[in-house]
Amino acid sequence: MQEAVHMRVGVVIAAAGEGKRMGAEGNKVLLPLRGRPMLQYSIECFAAMEEVTDLVVVTRAVDLELVRELARQAAPSRSVQVVAGGAERQESVYLGLKVLPLDTDWVIIHDGARPFINPELVRRGLEAAFVHKAVGLAVPVKDTIKRVQEGFVVDTLNRAELWAMQTPQIFSFELILAAHERARELGLQATDDCALVEKLGHPVYIAAGEYGNIKITTPDDLPRREEVSVGFGYDVHRLVADRPLVLGGVTIPYEKGLLGHSDADVLTHAIMDALLGAMGEGDIGEHFPDTDQRYAGISSMLLLRHVMDLVNAGGWEICSVDAVIMAQQPKLSPWKAAIRASLAQALGIAERHVSVKATTTEGLGFVGREEGIAVQAVAALRTRQC
Ligand code: MG
Repeated sequence: MQEAVHMRVGVVIAAAGEGKRMGAEGNKVLLPLRGRPMLQYSIECFAAMEEVTDLVVVTRAVDLELVRELARQAAPSRSVQVVAGGAERQESVYLGLKVLPLDTDWVIIHDGARPFINPELVRRGLEAAFVHKAVGLAVPVKDTIKRVQEGFVVDTLNRAELWAMQTPQIFSFELILAAHERARELGLQATDDCALVEKLGHPVYIAAGEYGNIKITTPDDLPRREEVSVGFGYDVHRLVADRPLVLGGVTIPYEKGLLGHSDADVLTHAIMDALLGAMGEGDIGEHFPDTDQRYAGISSMLLLRHVMDLVNAGGWEICSVDAVIMAQQPKLSPWKAAIRASLAQALGIAERHVSVKATTTEGLGFVGREEGIAVQAVAALRTRQC
């Protein structure tokens, strides 16, 4: 960005919000996000940009010392000015503008509650500002927006024309200062800085923002820390005459089948135990006791559906499931693909995330004597990302 080298580019980060909607005591931009105060991410982003010459953070008077210390940690090689804001965001931004040097050329205004910006996104806006003097980053609205009065729709807006405004918003210093001063004279209030420039009658250009550049407004907006959990399952059923042999919901033609209270699908049982284990939810014996007549002869795929309800209700998603079937007879290789497909469907994941392997035990043990079939399974789960 050659143009910027000789220019004075100031940044004003608005960080004086009370965070009432966060249910937070104090300043929401100081709440931890992945272990660090949310505000730190924005300061780091701008401090890393060599185009930026002046960096101002506007915060609550009571947080001045805290934020100064945070800025020293986030940007040790920079001198960051931290000043007290006003009662409203607009007033705070104005106070931030007033401490920038008078020869400032461009101003980047950013909300401290948008921690997911990056220099590339800021540069996109800055380059557009060199041409258009006033630029807001924004994304097309995905939802249908209706105007509602007293509980009833009065209008459906044309979605093709609707954009959700983000920050940074970038202006020529002269223009934004004039817009703020005029708003103060006339008592105009707006929820973003572009609106003040619009009220001056100056065109505002829209540059492409990013959907990931969200504003943290309620606790639901805070990305949850991802958790990964692994569970293990093991099951054995006896092979007897006159029973079906069901593995992973697939009935396999064989002279013997597995004995059990349900359909004795030993593979599905081991997988359910692995899933329950990963969630810390006990085992299938606790969830489906064999003393309960409801489960007599039931398809284990229905039991798996119940376990999947627990997976979903717990906010988990399945990364992968891997199982080894230990059987001397019958030969299972012709059935592995069908079993894998059946399980992938029941688990709601791609087939490549399901693995079904089979082995004999070289004639050893109860499996080798064809008295039963054993299965071991592991399941990896992670917390669902919003
Ligand atoms: Mg079992």
